[in-house]
Amino acid sequence: MYDNHAAVPENPADAPARHVDDVSADLVVVGGGLAGLCMALAAARGGADTVLVHDRPVLGGNSSSEVRVTPAGAGHVSAWARETGIVEDLLLDDRRTNHAQFWEGGLTNSGWDLTLLDATRRQPGLRVILNASVRDAHTRQGTDGRELVRLDAVQTTTEKDIRLHARQFADCTGNGTVGRLAGAARDYGREGRAEFGEPLAPRVRDRATSGSTITLHARDIGRPVPYTAPAWAEHYATAKAIGAFRELRNVHRPEFGGFWWLEIGYPYHQVTGTEEVRDALLGHALGVWDHLKNHHPQRERLAGYALDWIGALPGRRESRRLLGDVVLTEWDCHRDPHWPDRVGVAGWYLDLHVKGGLLSKRDPGEPSQADTNYRHWARVPPFGVPLRACYSRDVANLWIGGRCLSASHVALGALRVQQTLGMLGQAVGTAAAYALAHGLTPRTAAAPDGPHIGSIQQRLVRDDVRVPALREHVAPGLPTPRASAASQARFDVGRPDPTHTRDLTVPRAQVFPVAGDHLEEIEIHLRNDTSSVVRPAWQLQEVDTLWSREDGRLLAEGTVDVPPGSGPIVLAPHTATRPGRLHRLVVGTPGTGAHTGPALAGTHWIAATDLPPGSTAQFLHTSTGGPDPTTEARGAFDPDEIDVPAYRHWAQDKWTALTLRPTPHQYPYGPANAVNGLHWPESWPNLWMSDPAAPLPQHLDLAHDTTVTFDEVRLRFDTDLNARISAAPGLWQAPQCVSRYRLLVRAHADAPWERIHHVAANHRRLNVIRLPEPVTAQALRVEILAVGAPDARPLDDVEATYWREDGLRASRATLAPGCRVYGVGLYLVGTAPEGRCRPSPPHPPGPNPDTTPHVHPPATTQESAPCAASPDGPTPNTT
Ligand SMILES: Cc1cc2nc3c(=O)[nH]c(=O)nc-3n(C[C@H](O)[C@H](O)[C@H](O)COP(=O)(O)OP(=O)(O)OC[C@H]3O[C@@H](n4cnc5c(N)ncnc54)[C@H](O)[C@@H]3O)c2cc1C
Repeated sequence: MYDNHAAVPENPADAPARHVDDVSADLVVVGGGLAGLCMALAAARGGADTVLVHDRPVLGGNSSSEVRVTPAGAGHVSAWARETGIVEDLLLDDRRTNHAQFWEGGLTNSGWDLTLLDATRRQPGLRVILNASVRDAHTRQGTDGRELVRLDAVQTTTEKDIRLHARQFADCTGNGTVGRLAGAARDYGREGRAEFGEPLAPRVRDRATSGSTITLHARDIGRPVPYTAPAWAEHYATAKAIGAFRELRNVHRPEFGGFWWLEIGYPYHQVTGTEEVRDALLGHALGVWDHLKNHHPQRERLAGYALDWIGALPGRRESRRLLGDVVLTEWDCHRDPHWPDRVGVAGWYLDLHVKGGLLSKRDPGEPSQADTNYRHWARVPPFGVPLRACYSRDVANLWIGGRCLSASHVALGALRVQQTLGMLGQAVGTAAAYALAHGLTPRTAAAPDGPHIGSIQQRLVRDDVRVPALREHVAPGLPTPRASAASQARFDVGRPDPTHTRDLTVPRAQVFPVAGDHLEEIEIHLRNDTSSVVRPAWQLQEVDTLWSREDGRLLAEGTVDVPPGSGPIVLAPHTATRPGRLHRLVVGTPGTGAHTGPALAGTHWIAATDLPPGSTAQFLHTSTGGPDPTTEARGAFDPDEIDVPAYRHWAQDKWTALTLRPTPHQYPYGPANAVNGLHWPESWPNLWMSDPAAPLPQHLDLAHDTTVTFDEVRLRFDTDLNARISAAPGLWQAPQCVSRYRLLVRAHADAPWERIHHVAANHRRLNVIRLPEPVTAQALRVEILAVGAPDARPLDDVEATYWREDGLRASRATLAPGCRVYGVGLYLVGTAPEGRCRPSPPHPPGPNPDTTPHVHPPATTQESAPCAASPDGPTPNTT
């Protein structure tokens, strides 16, 4: 931590009129929201001497106890798409130790503050300066253009002036404050539609942004509590007066809160108008509370509820955006251009709130809640984010993180959630550490055709930053290890769940992995509620990713007769398939428009009890442009505001699996997935799963033709990348996560296995095991002894219901047992460019290496020591 006491004279009378501290570092990160925090942690881990300067007493920005916005990310919208890396560690650590639930609607429990603080305290190379606001910037003309040399901050608690000197700086203020002070190119408001050709941009450029919010929290205290609103509160006699789609949800729960739509934006400036915005928001928030207590139709039931928290600091969604060499636009979100310098993934929907927020009574709080044409257009599939959007185009040593990164107003809608920004922050922090170590500017580090971006990307995937379609490399000359395992699971959606169906008034699909080279038959379960036979068409397509919106390559098609009633239906594609590709089974009438017509009204595809990793349900949505006349649309969009185009694409139904049993059975979860260099479901599950019927322990072996030397093992366990981790209950850990395991090695194929490490209690996805000294071995075994946490607190009804309603498949009793590993890698730290392990040097003269074990250190019953000083933070609990 930054030492506040170091230079303070003991006698206050000696204190100078102004106390000035000079702080020097490699990198100064300004703003301790999740973006800045993850950036600072990553930069320090990467070896940069890092200072994080934050103007609040608690870390976390909008997610902190001051604003209480619950982190969200791509995984809330797209199947299996949750961000990983540091932000995943933080969330998993919090859920494991925090007794309280993250309440949906933006009310984070204050234990989260401590989780974040703790992460910074444990990070060598990171100093944190709290309550210090950066107010001034000093630049000079450098060899690469204008650059920052110093930032000046004021620490409000100590009255100190702090001068921050660094080689590079990062603006994670959300407001682009550092960029503004340095005179960096920036934008504010909404671009005109023609600027980037964005359908969701207004016709004419304006100064509107998504607004800021103050929200509230209430609880039932068990006895009547009257409420009299102050005269300055808004008066809301009816729910309609608050506005359409501004839902007062969860008011039946013992505690509730959130109400993201308590929002005010235009015409206020979201930085310079903050004080007025706060005052106005307080009036609206208390007006809503007055409505609940004194005017709501169920006010009698709400009599025992008391207001126990109301925000004092408006949470901001958007203000200035700094401009980088790339400005992400709406089209980059719809059609990922596969940036060569991509450093992370985003995938929240294009979340654009109505201009003005509460000040607009006519419009719904969020258009995506009002119209399906808008909604399915706005729900973009996961897309890559280039490093060139993460530095200033005209201040040579200024990185950008968080919601002021280089994006249009529309694209920011899909980027600005905190798990996404946290992970992108880690990516930028890693890049900054690399750039500093190599004497590079952000631009030269990120150059798509330059020599560095590949190394940065490799560091990122090694550190579990989710970079789309990026394979972790094996060091040159080192063969990929052969993987084998005690068992493997087959693709299995479980049983039909008759309580859960999808009607075939639109074509439906299930995307699933095919490991073999042919498919003979596919059994599905349908229910025909009519009194006559119906005949849906079906298709089998090959698709590129889980989230493909377009039709895939057609492999087979036909029609099938479905008699009245419910039961299995067998389709017979009898087709060759390409092993290792995702396929889409479509039932309905693809290619003829959104609706299969009345012929299929009353016919349903029955859902399944389990959702296998790396598969998802989809449905076809067709927009003729403008609002959808068949749904809850509230009339035409204002064409000056929104221009939803005509489109036809496959939308995701991410919490659902539809019944589907292929013949022959498919085995897409083989052990080779753990060493294929891809660590996330995307165009393949990329996950080893043991046979759920096989008992523990299970093992996964990595073998080489020759011995290799390594001192680090990285494992990625399954923590359910389809789940909203932030909505998980308190004292929770992912039930399918490997919790107890051992690492063993052997010197050659006939040698006995020797234990080198034991982890007794793990709840994290990424496990980094630093061995006390290098080990030379021909094979490594990961022996899995336990999954989940037998001591996990049982969920009470409220939590379990909340969890289930949030769509968490894992809360169902049907989660298949077994072990799941996304990736295992061996590394020799500080040798190969990316730290991957290397073949051993030739054996010295002596005993025949083929017969003599070369396992170092010698086998021992002692466990290896936990690597407390690991720059990757704490290892999992070791014994
Ligand atoms: C009501 C509301 C609901 C939302 N809903 C969700 C949701 O459900 N899930 C989700 O993930 N996201 C949600 N968002 C969006 C999300 O909260 C923000 O986009 C996100 O917090 C941005 O992260 P950040 O790290 O860039 O900035 P912030 O979280 O804003 O953090 C930046 C920090 O920098 C500090 N700072 C600013 N200027 C200075 C300075 N000069 N010196 C030092 N420090 C400075 C600020 O105090 C702030 O704490 C919501 C936002 C709001 C307001």
